[in-house]
Amino acid sequence: MPRPPKTRKVGFIPTATYFKPAGVPMSKLEEIQLGIDELEALRLKDVLGMDQEECARQMDLTQSTFQRIITAARQKVASAIVEGKALRVEGGKYQFVLSWVCRSCGQTWEEAGPEKDRITRCPSCKGVEVDNQRAHSKGPGPPPWAGAGRGRRRGIKEVEE
Ligand SMILES: [Zn+2]
Repeated sequence: MPRPPKTRKVGFIPTATYFKPAGVPMSKLEEIQLGIDELEALRLKDVLGMDQEECARQMDLTQSTFQRIITAARQKVASAIVEGKALRVEGGKYQFVLSWVCRSCGQTWEEAGPEKDRITRCPSCKGVEVDNQRAHSKGPGPPPWAGAGRGRRRGIKEVEE
């Protein structure tokens, strides 16, 4: 049995997932699919401006694999714009993982997500004053169910001591 393809860690699930040229009827549109992993590569490298080594590390990939993914992603986006095609963002081999940092003790850790309404605690000091390290990116931000950016307030309010 072939080994399953390695999942690519992503820290961002887009809320805007469909882009189409104005004034073109859907029936006449060709569609290009951009994977969530490909979008993450674009986000880290081209939106946040990280260097390639850091991008590869964040997604848990080798640099050459990251390079391959981002090249494909750029080609798809460019082709959609140049050729007037619709872009659908979905699929891809990915795992949604959030990086957290504790505001009390500075501990950093990763957790797979999303899990709705779960309170994230620091594994070291058990504090709830934690921040999602990737929540401070540009763009519309993660969807509400990701809990990013709201964790601190929600944690303080709901955690029983
Ligand atoms: Zn802590």
